[in-house]
Amino acid sequence: MTDQYTFRNPVTAYGKISPPEQHQPEPGLDAELEPKADLGEETYRGTGRLEGRRAIVTGADSGIGAATAIAFGREGADVVLSYLPEEEEDASRIAGIIEAAGRKAVKVPGDLKDPNVCREVVDTAVAVLGGVDILVNNAGKQVAQKELTDITDEQFDHTLKTNVYAMFWLTKAALPHLPPGSTIINTTSIQAYSPSPTLVDYASTKASINNFTKGLAQQLAPQGIRVNAVAPGPIWTPLQVSSGQPKEELPEFGQSTPLGRAGQPAELAPAYVFLASPESSYVVGETLNVNGGSPTP
Ligand code: NAD
Ligand code: MG
Repeated sequence: MTDQYTFRNPVTAYGKISPPEQHQPEPGLDAELEPKADLGEETYRGTGRLEGRRAIVTGADSGIGAATAIAFGREGADVVLSYLPEEEEDASRIAGIIEAAGRKAVKVPGDLKDPNVCREVVDTAVAVLGGVDILVNNAGKQVAQKELTDITDEQFDHTLKTNVYAMFWLTKAALPHLPPGSTIINTTSIQAYSPSPTLVDYASTKASINNFTKGLAQQLAPQGIRVNAVAPGPIWTPLQVSSGQPKEELPEFGQSTPLGRAGQPAELAPAYVFLASPESSYVVGETLNVNGGSPTP
């Protein structure tokens, strides 16, 4: 099994997958993904880089958010996990892994398209963890459609609410609580600058997230709050099998990257840990691409 430290070839690390065609209703469950995604649950080794920190991670039940939440816990942080109520099974498993690392895991199910839920997530962190100093805006909605005319007004609205409005609402609610040294990390995507023709609504939210990150980073830097983004390439998560990709494309998922394979959520977590921790103190408004080698602007 690959871990984040052992010297090895990144072409073969984490294995090359060719997922069978499959479909789950949104939001999809890690528990039902075939093959299983690697969240680093067996391998991630913390080194005390987030000792005593208090984090909020949205979409923390599965995929990239879950791998990040596990890594944060093992690095010494307490974590509030935000997710949808349908994802209780995935969320409980991740909470258990964080608790096994000796840290607090606080589950806050709820739909982030509702600004009240966004405020509740922040209020819970303040009430139960005694504050918040890491905010990871990672929850996302991605539904592929061949034609613009296939995107319903509701899909467009829900994609923008989930990917952009929730980031705004959560950040706005968290700001009054964030002490100097705090970090905000937004999950964007390679889609922000290389949009797929089938992801017009989704890709434009990711361009928006990039822009929001760079503008806000300058605004908050003088207060000692650093804002950065992580831009994943093709990563094996439930998002992809719940209409994120046309299902006939799943067997080749990620194989057109220079590394020739999809990434695993476990390969994203160290990027979030780096941006959350003081070791990245001079990194502000940056987009850290973790995409298997596809060129970026
Ligand atoms: P995922 O399905 O595991 O995570 C997405 C999470 O978003 C879900 O678990 C769910 O809890 C949350 N979510 C969705 N709608 C919500 C709502 N209305 N309220 C509350 N929570 C909601 O998939 P993932 O791939 O790990 O996605 C995480 C982030 O990574 C997303 O922002 C996605 O756009 C981004 N991303 C993923 C890839 C990829 O290839 N998987 C590539 C680039 C960017
Ligand atoms: Mg999920």
